[in-house]
Order: sequence, then C-alpha cells, then structure tokens
Amino acid sequence: MLPVIALVGRPNVGKSTLFNRLTKSRDALVANYAGLTRDRKYGEAEIEGHKVILVDTGGISGDEEGIDEAMAQQSLQAIDEADVVLFLVDCRDGLTPADEMIADQLRTRSKPTLLVANKVDGVNPDIALAPFYELGIGELLPTTATHGRGVRALMERVVKDL
Ligand code: GDP
Ligand code: MG
Repeated sequence: MLPVIALVGRPNVGKSTLFNRLTKSRDALVANYAGLTRDRKYGEAEIEGHKVILVDTGGISGDEEGIDEAMAQQSLQAIDEADVVLFLVDCRDGLTPADEMIADQLRTRSKPTLLVANKVDGVNPDIALAPFYELGIGELLPTTATHGRGVRALMERVVKDL
C-alpha cells in the first residue's frame, strides 16, 4: 500500500488544481488499494522520488442546505484514510467559517497535517497569511497551485511526514 495524501478544504480553494498538477495518472487503480473509498478521486503521483496516492475531495453534490454537511462528511472520511493531510485555504478570501469547520475536524484527529495557503499570487503574504496562523493547524506553506509556485517546497515538506 502506497502512502495516501489527502487534499481537503472547502470548495474553490484550489484542491483539484493542485491534484492535477501533481498526478500523472489520474484515476489510480483504486481496486488495488483495499480500504479506499470510491467516491473520491484518486491519482498516483511521484513526489521527490516517493510514489504516493493523492486523494482529491470535493465534487460535492446536493442542495445548498446540505452542502456543509456533505463537505464535512467527505473531508472527515478522507482525513481518516490519509497518512498525510494537506488542508488548503484561500489567501484571497481569507479565513472563512467553512475553513474553521474543517480545522475543527482536523483537531479531533491526529494526522500529520500541513496548512496550504493557496492563491498567494497577488496578495501581500505578510498580511494575507496572518489569520491562518491562528488556526493552529500544522505548518503553513504558501502556494500558487495554478502556476506551481511553492509546490516544490510543499512536496519537500510532505515527504518528511511519509
Ligand atoms: P477546488 O474546488 O478546491 O478543487 O478548487 P479548483 O482547483 O477547482 O480551483 C478553483 C478556482 O481557483 C479555479 O478557477 C482555479 O483556476 C483557481 N485557482 C486555483 N489555484 C489558484 C491559485 O493558486 N491562484 C489563483 N489566482 N487561482 C487559483
Ligand atoms: Mg475540486
């Protein structure tokens, strides 16, 4: 079984963008990995010479009322099956209640977690990152998933937790 790295975070923070950047073969052969659920998107990736399975959460469907619940449920399951969790937040939007909800879930688990402050392009990091430190969740690493900025540094940090 390869190590599993889960991307969690509220919708639109850049999880799928990061997933697509990191995975070579999409739709990893989930059948080969007992214990993985099929309702999330898996991909194989090689990071810093380590083969891993990447999990993209999201694709939440359902009505507006149920969306937080569905997101919470899905991220919780992904957290449980992961070896390392990448918790993505959006520097442009700042800290939101949905981020806090996911942070609360992470606190009930003891998974190695890195806080990925995505969309750091076009913001002043000194100001934009400050609220996220208050979450007290893991180490904070700024990225621009669309252009790859910070992604190498993030991966170098991730492999230390494998
Ligand atoms: P997800 O819902 O968390 O999977 O988010 P997506 O990966 O679908 O990204 C949502 C939107 O944010 C898309 O339009 C992306 O192109 C954009 N996006 C993702 N990463 C970045 C980033 O680092 N900077 C900027 N400016 N936009 C980004
Ligand atoms: Mg997505």
